[in-house]
Amino acid sequence: MQLAEALTDADRKNGLINHSRDCLSAEELRQFAAGKSSQPDAVLVHLGDCLTCTELLSRLRGRTTRIRRLSLALATAIVVLVAVLLISIRPSHVPIAIATIDLRFASPTRGAGNAEGIVHAARSNGTVRILLPIGSEGKYESEIQSKPGGHPVVSSSGQASLQNHEIVLDLPINLAQVPSGSYYLALRRNSSEWIYYSLDLK
Ligand SMILES: [Zn+2]
Repeated sequence: MQLAEALTDADRKNGLINHSRDCLSAEELRQFAAGKSSQPDAVLVHLGDCLTCTELLSRLRGRTTRIRRLSLALATAIVVLVAVLLISIRPSHVPIAIATIDLRFASPTRGAGNAEGIVHAARSNGTVRILLPIGSEGKYESEIQSKPGGHPVVSSSGQASLQNHEIVLDLPINLAQVPSGSYYLALRRNSSEWIYYSLDLK
């Protein structure tokens, strides 16, 4: 009995008692750790005297830090996972290609139904490169039409320039979006008259 009392007194002196009525509740400590205490000064005064509450508080803070670290690690993992998913979902099976339309030796069509000089192009997902005869550099407007002078299915513009001994007009046209079939390729250089070519899209 005396021994028990003596131990309790020693513990009390060392501040190692269990939570007494004077001590702060776990909720009060949590609020203090979160900086949301209603009486921070009173808590500080008590913490100055009580080792138990100080230890509880440091344990609470340690747990909060661990939870924060865990949350951060989890958030990082999610970001990495989403990035990996986005990269794998991206349609890599559709090759980015250049659909070349060779107009170097093609003659413009004189009207609908003229089968002469039909130019061909593959419906590839990428850009259109038109090869033009030497001497035809300049600024071009381009349209793909269902019938000559009709509403354009696709329209674009660009600058034709000399590249490796060829006059090249690169246009940001995605032919994969155009259904296959017979069209007219309309070209206009430096705002002059439109010239039409029969275009077969495959
Ligand atoms: Zn205490």
